[in-house]
Amino acid sequence: MVKEAKQVLQETFGYNQFRPLQEEVISKVLKKKDSLVIMPTGGGKSICYQIPALIFDGLTIVISPLISLMKDQVEQLDEYGVPALFLNSTLTPERYSENVRKLKKGEAKLLYLAPETLMMESTRELLKGLTVDCFTIDEAHCISEWGHDFRPEYRQLATVRKDFPDAVCLALTATATPRVRDDIQQILEMKDSETFVASFDRKNLLLQVVDKQEPLEQILDFLYTRPKQSGIIYCFSRRQVNELYSDLKHEGHSVRPYHAGLSEAQRTRNQEAFIRDDIQIIVATIAFGMGINKPDVRFVIHHDMPQNIESYYQQIGRAGRDGLQADCMLLYSYSDKQKIQYFINQKEGEEKKVAEKHLDALLHFLEYDGCRRKPLMEYFGEEYPHDECGMCDNCLQYKDNMQNYTEQAQKYMSCIARTDETYGAYYIADILRGSKQKKILENGHDKLSTYGIGQEWTKNQWIQLSRLLLRKDLLKKDPEHGSLKLTAAATAVLKGDERVEGILDRTQATSDEDKPSR
Ligand code: ADP
Ligand code: ZN
Repeated sequence: MVKEAKQVLQETFGYNQFRPLQEEVISKVLKKKDSLVIMPTGGGKSICYQIPALIFDGLTIVISPLISLMKDQVEQLDEYGVPALFLNSTLTPERYSENVRKLKKGEAKLLYLAPETLMMESTRELLKGLTVDCFTIDEAHCISEWGHDFRPEYRQLATVRKDFPDAVCLALTATATPRVRDDIQQILEMKDSETFVASFDRKNLLLQVVDKQEPLEQILDFLYTRPKQSGIIYCFSRRQVNELYSDLKHEGHSVRPYHAGLSEAQRTRNQEAFIRDDIQIIVATIAFGMGINKPDVRFVIHHDMPQNIESYYQQIGRAGRDGLQADCMLLYSYSDKQKIQYFINQKEGEEKKVAEKHLDALLHFLEYDGCRRKPLMEYFGEEYPHDECGMCDNCLQYKDNMQNYTEQAQKYMSCIARTDETYGAYYIADILRGSKQKKILENGHDKLSTYGIGQEWTKNQWIQLSRLLLRKDLLKKDPEHGSLKLTAAATAVLKGDERVEGILDRTQATSDEDKPSR
């Protein structure tokens, strides 16, 4: 049967290979083993039930919370020649009866239903007369109060499920928290079920965090190199959306806004224009994106800091669903951080604590100087197994700028040792540069063997080196006096057993620091 699945993949959907876990899930479903599938947005969940649906003799019911998405899916399946239908309140009575007739005649393989339609007595009667082989619950996290969009109707799915004792149950979601996972399995009574958790790493997304200076200029520069590519720009507020929208429009870009302040008709128009490629860019608040299935979104820009890692991940997840490279650029500034802090301070109790935790995790990601996939994956409970991804700003910078600073590190650290670990970064740099300042002469530090051996570097470079050594835990800073101490790890470097490699700070110190202090 698995062979048959591969054939359907190629012949019906036109894909050569399964994505991770798709084949395993399909094989379990075909064996009628209940399964819970956790895959990131864009991971390819749909095929996990669509292929079995084509192989089973009977019907596959798909419960989906979003009517707009349902319509999309059915239209897409129609294009692949897969007989699928939906029943919901948007259908005219004529279409509704026609769909019911088709179902009775066995002319559909997949039936998409909103949970409230499923609960209707008439629907349940109709379905009882049909052979149902698979009961699929899409967006299954809606069942859990711990999920981000709890839907009470989802709660009742467990009882309906009993109407189809021979059907296998397949629950799918992109929400990975263990709490939600347990809820799904418990509420749906998936006792012996198999759980599949796909990696949350979206390898084709290039992740970048950029210092926000002149956001409009920075975005225009970015867009300049990506003519005609589709992209989303997220902003913090409606006001910011409107402002950026008119700035970009003024610059001649093909762009529309999207936020909850626009009428529903306007929002739908703008969204559809984006999906149909009538326009290139959508500038939006977080209101945009739920249920959007546009495979070729080539970039997502965050004009402002996202609310938390989870929403950041959801938002960048809308890029590159076709598996081709997509660029995600986040503009990060200190004042954005303060803005979010301000909102958090308005909250109280548990809510405040949760918000603070979210902010901390986000800042950890933003300020991280190693591979960005590490903190991102860790947030979702997954350990990133590599040192570098080659697809984030830090990895790319690192490759280009990484240098060997062992010799300078030895000079700097032995100077710290010779002065009994009692001085700060600037003083050490001054000794190395051979400064004739009074304090050095009074202390007799011009007699040290390390005096004046660091003329090859500016003071600023030595300061940057001290920061690198702190980051690498070769030095510790006394929190009170600011004096630098060697850590145990420093010994190996001083002995020449370990090398020091890295990049010096990208932030520029003031030019004052750069002046030789003579
Ligand atoms: P999800 O529901 O997990 O967000 P989808 O099922 O909508 O993801 O799939 C995301 C995109 O990936 C779709 O454009 C889909 O056609 C494509 N896709 C799914 N499986 C494969 C595959 N095996 N090979 C290539 N593309 C695939
Ligand atoms: Zn990386």
